[in-house]
Amino acid sequence: MRSLESVNPFLRPRPAPSPGRAWVPLVGALSLLLRLFAAAAPAASLEPPRAPAPRAGLASGDAGVRLAGGDAVPAGFPSSAPFRDRAVILCWHSFLGDPSLPTDFSLAELKAQLDALAALGYRFPSFAEAVSGRLEGHLNVVVTLDDGHRTVPAAVERVFSERGIKPSLFVYPSVIGTQAFAMDDAALGRLSSEGCLVGAHGYHHLFVTADLARRDRAAFDREIHKAKEKTEAITRLPVVAYAYPFGALSPVTKEELVRAGYAYGLAVAPGFVYADGAFDDPLELPRLVVTREGWKDILALLSRNARAFR
Ligand SMILES: [Zn+2]
Repeated sequence: MRSLESVNPFLRPRPAPSPGRAWVPLVGALSLLLRLFAAAAPAASLEPPRAPAPRAGLASGDAGVRLAGGDAVPAGFPSSAPFRDRAVILCWHSFLGDPSLPTDFSLAELKAQLDALAALGYRFPSFAEAVSGRLEGHLNVVVTLDDGHRTVPAAVERVFSERGIKPSLFVYPSVIGTQAFAMDDAALGRLSSEGCLVGAHGYHHLFVTADLARRDRAAFDREIHKAKEKTEAITRLPVVAYAYPFGALSPVTKEELVRAGYAYGLAVAPGFVYADGAFDDPLELPRLVVTREGWKDILALLSRNARAFR
């Protein structure tokens, strides 16, 4: 997996200057550097680059006023402030406390993870808050829980609720109420009525890609359309978000999501969701899966992010 920094230069402690904003989340650091070199060394000039001029705002009676987001950026470069309001979406699965399962944690381990994030200053807005522009600052983690495991209700009641966290749940209806490892309709309906957003996560949890669309169009459609209908039948609410099983998707998957009436698709990829929707692809929002092995890297990443604007 690529590091977050390789796809987003604004994770670095000193925000990198950039000549534009809409393209920044889309290109790597290399492209940024090339553009900076091009901007700093115009072909017609042999003069050494001049030091940035003092900030006009600070020289004209604004002494002591820190300009939000712009302090570390030299004059002439746009501010990094538009990138500040953002969140990282994390995904947990089950809470049996079985150390042999890579995506499983005990409730004590889950508490310790959330408390470590809170100690870094993180807050836990809901998915709905994150995608509706209501993110403030850069210390935000959105909690999502995939697959509808039977241990989810206890985790919500005993761990997330007491921290004021409303996780979003992504379920595949073929197992809800039919498999012993999964929640039943009543448990899922209760969490939904208590304010947990419920989204779809396939119908049978297949790889919903162009390959499936080619091989078995009916199965492809079922993973998207029937998943939505069945989930809505349980929650009696519109299902607007879809988490791609295994994080696997193709352009045709995104097209079919729109046709089915979803507004959001969650992938598995490093990156942020931004308050400014211009920086987001709503059908391919980045998300990190919390694994036993990967937790220390996620915590290290979120520690670096916490320092990014100091
Ligand atoms: Zn899954």
